[in-house]
Amino acid sequence: MAARESMEEALVAEKHAQYVLSVEKKKDDLESMVMEHLRMNGAYWGLTTLDLLHRIDAVDRDQVISWILACQHESGGFGGNIDHDAHLLYTLSAVQVLALLDKLDVLDVEKVSNYVAGLQNDDGSFSGDEWGEIDTRFSYCAICCLALLHRLNKIDVRKAVSYVVSCKNLDGGFGCVPGAESHAGQIFCCVGALAITGSLHHVDKDLLGWWLCERQVKSGGLNGRPEKLPDVCYSWWVLSSLIMIDRVHWIDKNKLANFILDCQDKDNGGISDRPDDAVDVFHTYFGIAGLSLLEYPGVKPIDPAYALPVETVNRIILGSRGPSSSN
Ligand code: ZN
Repeated sequence: MAARESMEEALVAEKHAQYVLSVEKKKDDLESMVMEHLRMNGAYWGLTTLDLLHRIDAVDRDQVISWILACQHESGGFGGNIDHDAHLLYTLSAVQVLALLDKLDVLDVEKVSNYVAGLQNDDGSFSGDEWGEIDTRFSYCAICCLALLHRLNKIDVRKAVSYVVSCKNLDGGFGCVPGAESHAGQIFCCVGALAITGSLHHVDKDLLGWWLCERQVKSGGLNGRPEKLPDVCYSWWVLSSLIMIDRVHWIDKNKLANFILDCQDKDNGGISDRPDDAVDVFHTYFGIAGLSLLEYPGVKPIDPAYALPVETVNRIILGSRGPSSSN
């Protein structure tokens, strides 16, 4: 134990890049079967990981783009795979991947943004798809997606913000619907939606910062709720939220970086949820993204609200390119 605590592990970046590329290739093992309906999210996790590690050139961009377009429906939304139903979760991942590859111009932006805007309800909330389940995750998906497409004007932003604020709890956190328990994943979605729309003044930063920094446990890792085990993916949900509300100095960043590094498979690449568990692409992405937020050397900086490399966000949001970005 003492040895582990003092040991500074190094990031085996090239092994992680090789691991992600290997998962992308084999489609018939167990992990791939579980991932089948999440393949669009998997593409986003894998490709963003490769980009953060300066290895995006190892993928065939044209192949990725034509597969993404094959997942699009007549409605304008995207499915998790070819012939799967459209949903806001996959529509955001599709837009994020195209943004990452600097290929948003292959989209019919009006069609995609009309699909997203059409899922807003009268109270400002968003349904994830035509079947109507409501969750603040979908508010984030819609707002992030429309911001990347420069089409936030297609929704009632004031109502969208007031719905997210109605999910705020007395502990400073946010849940999936009004009155639901605070959860770090949901907090990321709500704080991210408020950050993108310039509405962070609705957050009690000290109160929420306190709840979030309480998520750090003895090993240095972060959990998602009180009494839960630490998990690498919470490095992202908690840390990104702390950065957005300017309270990241309230946790021990060094201990967190060492916890993430401890979750690496140093032989075969990949990162797991906690030390010595099996690796997967999801936790590999969130581990690398967490290290990026911690400014780990050799990892590109990631934007905490858009969950895309800072250079991508700067190109799309700050860079004005053509008439589509004039609103
Ligand atoms: Zn996890």
